[in-house]
Amino acid sequence: MRTQIGLLLALMLAVAAVATLGATGQVTFVNDPITGKPLALVEGIPGPEKGPPCQLDQRYVDEQPEGLRDDVAAAWQRLRDKAAAANVKLCVQDGKRSVGQQEREFADAVRRFGTRELAAKYVLPPEKSMHVKGIAVDIQPIASAVWVERNGREVGWCRRYANEQWHFEYDPGYVTAGCPALLPSATGS
Ligand SMILES: [Zn+2]
Repeated sequence: MRTQIGLLLALMLAVAAVATLGATGQVTFVNDPITGKPLALVEGIPGPEKGPPCQLDQRYVDEQPEGLRDDVAAAWQRLRDKAAAANVKLCVQDGKRSVGQQEREFADAVRRFGTRELAAKYVLPPEKSMHVKGIAVDIQPIASAVWVERNGREVGWCRRYANEQWHFEYDPGYVTAGCPALLPSATGS
């Protein structure tokens, strides 16, 4: 009997040790997002091209937010949980893009708007895009984006551009410093 209790105790201790290790490992993972992962590598990670339709509005999609920088992915989950607690559903119209994806979107915009300067007000070239860096998410429908604009800052998400109501970027500094003033567009003018 004593041996059995001893064995049981040992087993419980082992389980606790593994659980602690797991939790510690996860915390390290979240706080230490890009160790051994150069930015160039993050920028090459493609995001999904499309996703299933957004349940709230079929004009939009709801991508899996894959390929975001690790700390950004964790912050995205915090935002989604916070929204769910307020009964707000967020659809990911666009999250991570690779350099190649961004190049195609930029080339499309240049065709539509006529010049690189005009196009860049709506779609940045790859070397400047926060979607390529894996720290931006476009949220739809607009009612959901409005909710994030009001409530996202507490978990590090801010709207950045006056002409992109759906575009949010994550920065842990926003939690304490607040959101920066809106820029007119992604080119700053
Ligand atoms: Zn965007």
